[in-house]
Amino acid sequence: MADCLFCKIVAGQIPSAVVYQDDQVVAFRDINPQAPFHVLVAPTRHIATLNDIGPDDHALVGAMIGRAAALAAENGYAQRGYRTVFNCNAEAGQTVFHIHLHVLAGRSLGWPPG
Ligand code: AMP
Ligand code: ZN
Repeated sequence: MADCLFCKIVAGQIPSAVVYQDDQVVAFRDINPQAPFHVLVAPTRHIATLNDIGPDDHALVGAMIGRAAALAAENGYAQRGYRTVFNCNAEAGQTVFHIHLHVLAGRSLGWPPG
């Protein structure tokens, strides 16, 4: 999608610190990290919000979650713990309308979230 920030990151038109990429998903460091480890796992295909996920996308979302777990493990957080978050629309604080899974680790994370 032409005006989408994360589509531009997928296409390499905007620089980012990519930590993983394949045909389906890309993972890159959040530009404004909220924890010592904060990466975003996004599909390479544009999907605006979780509300736009259909049954055909379930395997893709599973791949995103699997990649989040793999990245947490590779960086030493599997046992310590980490948090994965999808924000959907305004009240959840979604600001980039290309779905992405936040993976946060490296500090104690409060609950409930703010
Ligand atoms: P959300 O509020 O859930 O939509 O999350 C969007 C996230 O994208 C925020 O945590 C931002 O810090 C992050 N972000 C915005 N622009 C960039 C960028 N150019 N590269 C990496 N992360 C970004
Ligand atoms: Zn996009």
